[in-house]
Amino acid sequence: MKSRHVDIAIVGAGIVGLACAYYLALSKRAPKVAIIDPLPPMSLTSAASGENYRNWWPHPVMTAFTDFSTDLMEAISNESDNWLHMTRRGYALATRQADPDDLLRQLHEGYGADGAGKIRTHRKGSTSSYQPATSADWQSAPDGVDVIQDRDILERCFPSFDRDVATVLHIRRAGDISGQQLGSFMLERIRANDGTVIRGRVVEVSRAQNFKLAVADGNDRTSVTADVVVNAAGPSIGNIAELLGESLPVVNVFQQKIAFEDVHGVIGRQMPFSIDLDGQKIDWTAEERAVLAGDPASRWLTEAMPGSIHCRPEGGDRGKWIKVGWAFNTTPSVPAADLPLDPNFPEIVLRGASRLNPGLKAYYDRLPSRLSHYGGYYTMTRENWPLIGPMKMDGAYVAGALSGFGTMAACATGALCARWVYGEALPEFARSLSLARYDDKPLMQSLLAGGNKGVL
Ligand SMILES: Cc1cc2nc3c(=O)[nH]c(=O)nc-3n(C[C@H](O)[C@H](O)[C@H](O)COP(=O)(O)OP(=O)(O)OC[C@H]3O[C@@H](n4cnc5c(N)ncnc54)[C@H](O)[C@@H]3O)c2cc1C
Repeated sequence: MKSRHVDIAIVGAGIVGLACAYYLALSKRAPKVAIIDPLPPMSLTSAASGENYRNWWPHPVMTAFTDFSTDLMEAISNESDNWLHMTRRGYALATRQADPDDLLRQLHEGYGADGAGKIRTHRKGSTSSYQPATSADWQSAPDGVDVIQDRDILERCFPSFDRDVATVLHIRRAGDISGQQLGSFMLERIRANDGTVIRGRVVEVSRAQNFKLAVADGNDRTSVTADVVVNAAGPSIGNIAELLGESLPVVNVFQQKIAFEDVHGVIGRQMPFSIDLDGQKIDWTAEERAVLAGDPASRWLTEAMPGSIHCRPEGGDRGKWIKVGWAFNTTPSVPAADLPLDPNFPEIVLRGASRLNPGLKAYYDRLPSRLSHYGGYYTMTRENWPLIGPMKMDGAYVAGALSGFGTMAACATGALCARWVYGEALPEFARSLSLARYDDKPLMQSLLAGGNKGVL
């Protein structure tokens, strides 16, 4: 058996493990860091990400957390000549409600004390200064939120939207990045700072003077000793916690997406990431509806479905592809290597997305052959907040439960994890994102009572 000693062992080479390694390895303390994974870096959940980012959340802690992450991504973009392909066309949240009071209340709550100053309303007759997202450049994009209720602006700037849409909230500090590019940037820097990737699965962890990790790669075994262990194993953070004799309050929920070539050019290339906030019943023909309703296994497809179906152009202004997703599954499952992709999902998500963008009906029953259908697990706590910080065992840390926001929050997660490990000053919101929040009963009660948990 081979043996290695490092200062810090990070379990998992997804975007979260890489971000932790990056911020740990780049510290002045110059620790020896190793990332352990049986798979190539960035190839599991991180490869399935929609790669969108936003600072729109129902709670100011999550707003502050993702703002912090966006600051860090912007710093990397500046340093690397935008190696991570960061854009900022925003999120367009559409609803048919003309007076979406609850939504506006949540918007104010999410942006906290300085929220009101960030929100601009555009109604018919108001002197409007609305700037559409014509440019993808994040540096010139506005901040804050535009609440658009002027029909002329809606029809001019969101021409593909359903005419019944009465309000669009355009979140401006939002867009997309290339997660793979961000991962490759970090990996290069980690290696330049003497960091290594060890191929293999952590199958055992014991603790005497320091941690001892048994790493299996086929018949090969490596024993890795380390002073610090970071559990960044994505859907397997619960399993790694078990190896440490602990348990984490997380479940895994499978979610799917499709991407296809928009050969009819339905979705304008300058459209923001667009979300239909309203629930719906999927647009089946009477005949299809009768068949689906007649089978107990498919009846749910004829019943009320939740909102939050989303769609955006993929591949830049000259590209043709679009990405469509709908995280309607809420049933936890045990992650399987063979992903449980539902062959009916592409048609389901297409029908759902056609409610906001009716032009997509052109693809009913004839989705282009150039289509990719993929998925992965949202590893989540009940309140949909991440777990970043110390575990019970001294020297062990967790960086996970990043649900559907791990790409956008990876930088903040890595930076917070490094500060926890080094005992450095943490931002005010950091404790609430660690396991310590479960001791704060009023916070937990309010989080679990809230209907909107920011799942997208
Ligand atoms: C369909 C979908 C769409 C999404 N869209 C977005 C989006 O638009 N924006 C966004 O910000 N986020 C999005 N996400 C979420 C984001 O992709 C995840 O939160 C993020 O990728 C999680 O990264 P990770 O590093 O924690 O996990 P992973 O990428 O899963 O990495 C974990 C790694 O740990 C390794 N591992 C597991 N067990 C062991 C072990 N025993 N020993 C060693 N290694 C181990 C695995 O092999 C894996 O490589 C989406 C997710 C899905 C599924």
